[in-house]
Amino acid sequence: MTRRAMPVAIGLTMVTAAFVPASAEQHHHWSYSGEGGPSHWAELDTKNAACGEGKSQSPVNIRIQDVRRTQLPKLMFNYRTTSLHIIDNGHSVQINVEPGSVLKVGDMSYQLLQLHFHHPSEELINGKRSEMVAHLVHRGTEGKLAVVAVLLRAGQPNSTVEALWNHLPKQKEREAYFKDVLINPAGLLPMDRSYFTYTGSLTTPPCSEGVRWLVLRSPSTLSKHEIAVFSKLYPNDARPVQKLNGRQVLGTK
Ligand SMILES: [Zn+2]
Repeated sequence: MTRRAMPVAIGLTMVTAAFVPASAEQHHHWSYSGEGGPSHWAELDTKNAACGEGKSQSPVNIRIQDVRRTQLPKLMFNYRTTSLHIIDNGHSVQINVEPGSVLKVGDMSYQLLQLHFHHPSEELINGKRSEMVAHLVHRGTEGKLAVVAVLLRAGQPNSTVEALWNHLPKQKEREAYFKDVLINPAGLLPMDRSYFTYTGSLTTPPCSEGVRWLVLRSPSTLSKHEIAVFSKLYPNDARPVQKLNGRQVLGTK
C-alpha cells in the first residue's frame, strides 16, 4: 500500500509544481486577444481597474466635425540624436530614449521617455484607422504623461523606421543597445505640426488616466515593406476604441 501510494504522491507533487507557476504567470499576462485580451484587462490585476471602470480611456475615434478648433500652444520638439536602445517587449517594439529630448507645449516641458508602435493605429479619425501609429511617450516635470501620436501611412519609406527595423532584437523582453546606431526620434514626425488633443489614458494596462494626448493631424509615411516587417511581429496590437463620455477633442486652428 505504501509502495503504491508513493509514486502517486510524487506524481501529484510534480503536476502541482508544474502548473502553479504557469497559472500564476497567466494571471498577470495581458494580450490583444483571447483570455488576456482587452475586455479582460481589468480582471487580470486589481491594478488594472481603470481599464474597465475608467471614464477617460484611450484610444478614441476623433470625429472631425466634433472637434472644437481653438488657439492651442505650438508643439516645440527639441529631440536629440542618441544611441539606440531597442526592446521587443512582447506587446510592441519600443525604443527607450536617453535623457535630453524635450517637447514643449506652452509653458509645459516634457521629457521623451520612449516610443513604440501599434499596427493598425489605435486612433481612429472619422472612423478610420491608419496602417500604423507611433506613440512618443513623454513625462512632465510633475510626473504627468503626454503622448504624441504620429499616424503612419503607406508611402515613401522612412529612414528612421528602416534603421530601427534593421536592429530588431532577436530576443524578446531584453533591451538591445547599439552604441554606434544614432537615432533622432524627430525623423518620425511629419512637417505639419497641427494636432488634436484630449485627456485620456494609457492604451495598455494599467490604463492609467490623466494622459495628455496630442494626435498629429498629418501622418508620416513609411513603405509597405516597413509596415510588413512590423505587422509580421505584431499583426494586431491595437486596443479597441473607447467611449469619449462627454470629453471634448480640441484641434489647432
Ligand atoms: Zn501606444
